Amino acid sequence: MTMTKKTFTSLDEVRGHILKGTATIYHGSKTSTVVAYDQLAQYAQENSWGDWCMGDLSQLPKKCHLDERQQLHVEGPVTWSEAKAFCRSKGRDIMTAPTEELACVLAGVSTSCTGERCFGFGTLRDQVVELAFINFRGEDEVLSAERDLVESSHLSSYQEEILNYQNTFAGYASFKNGPFPRFEKETDLLIGTEGQLGVVTKGVFKTTPLENVHYLFVALPKWEEDFTAHLELFEAVQEFRQDVLSCELLDENSWRYLDPEDRPREGKDIVYLEVRESELENIYDNLLSQLKHIGPDDFFAVSENRAISLRMAIPRRVFERNSQVGVVKKGTDIQVSGERFQELLLKYRELSQKGIRYNLFGHFGDAHLHFNFMPTQAQVSQCQDLLEELYHWVKEVGGSPFAEHGIGLLKQDFIKPFYTCAQEKLFAILKKEMDPSLVFFPFGFLRGQRDGE
Ligand SMILES: Cc1cc2nc3c(=O)[nH]c(=O)nc-3n(C[C@H](O)[C@H](O)[C@H](O)COP(=O)(O)OP(=O)(O)OC[C@H]3O[C@@H](n4cnc5c(N)ncnc54)[C@H](O)[C@@H]3O)c2cc1C
Repeated sequence: MTMTKKTFTSLDEVRGHILKGTATIYHGSKTSTVVAYDQLAQYAQENSWGDWCMGDLSQLPKKCHLDERQQLHVEGPVTWSEAKAFCRSKGRDIMTAPTEELACVLAGVSTSCTGERCFGFGTLRDQVVELAFINFRGEDEVLSAERDLVESSHLSSYQEEILNYQNTFAGYASFKNGPFPRFEKETDLLIGTEGQLGVVTKGVFKTTPLENVHYLFVALPKWEEDFTAHLELFEAVQEFRQDVLSCELLDENSWRYLDPEDRPREGKDIVYLEVRESELENIYDNLLSQLKHIGPDDFFAVSENRAISLRMAIPRRVFERNSQVGVVKKGTDIQVSGERFQELLLKYRELSQKGIRYNLFGHFGDAHLHFNFMPTQAQVSQCQDLLEELYHWVKEVGGSPFAEHGIGLLKQDFIKPFYTCAQEKLFAILKKEMDPSLVFFPFGFLRGQRDGE
């Protein structure tokens, strides 16, 4: 078994590499939290991967432009931070904002990433207009969001399998991402399939006019002790999705990863709102001032740069701390329906009482929070068991277990119970038709076995 590494500086090199037939994991900025890049060689050995390659796309040529319809064209390893700066320099803005802005936009397509602005603008998959990729023959292909998957030339003989699959996805349609990809539009073939069907080389995305925004921080009691105020805010903010672009929670435990001078309110959780400037007064008068459990001293404005850098610093510190201790992240990415949000908080409260360090942050307004155990090495297997139980509950209540970070390698065991025959069949068809020589991340979730198989 050998592992090789290859860094590509042109798309011709990528095409040539694909034709050699080596199983390859292509990557962008390597910020995925579900792959554990630093332990990949060992993982590959344990799972008998044979010969395989890490294909680095981060040195390919990159460019951005806006077309006459104000759609953003991205080629190569453009990061979210670069895409945002480019759009803003032209009076436009991106509608997706994953917390880690050094991640690549096209990798974000592969992971179906979402993030903060999903609250106001919806998911990335609905902002994609067109995608280009290199297929297993080393040829360029273009997929359009205007074509339904059943019309796609790749799958014309498999209409029944696609429709069966789509029926099983229907219950997850309102989530950012379900336990398996949507597979409704032709572009969905590359969204959330984690590079298992081809290398994404170009994307065209909707943008929005640039406008001033304000960040309002709301201080709340610690959620483990009392989440009445959290629930009140959660329910009230739903009516303001047109005006509030993001609605994020950073709990008191999370703030402790930052220096004391960076913590906005000692001993408090913070929910922050990214609000359109034109709607600021409306939000003060008709949302914040109406709340019974939150008083005027509990909310205050913070500059955009500061809010974003604080928000980004917390998951980065958590990630760094886990690497230092030598444990793989033991965190959740669960989204539930609004009606189940209180139950989710109760579940997290139970986990908080297990004697393992933890923190909670994430996309509060979407009922989508990351509960992170911060275990010692000795506590890792206990965390694994507790998470397994939690995913049973998520399945029972029809929630989404991994709403934005994907499955990668780390979540494959947890996802199996969510698959049915419809997933197994369509996944196998996709691999057969689009990756017959198994060169695109053949160790990924499209292998699709259910539990016990
Ligand atoms: C601190 C922190 C915060 C985060 N916050 C968010 C968040 O808010 N929302 C969110 O969705 N995610 C978040 N993530 C997860 C991560 O940033 C995303 O999964 C991101 O999309 C990965 O981008 P990347 O360039 O690092 O991809 P990589 O890690 O390099 O690759 C990720 C996957 O995509 C595949 N891939 C990459 N590029 C291509 C390509 N061109 N063609 C085909 N396949 C490809 C890879 O094979 C791999 O499976 C966060 C991560 C961290 C560390």
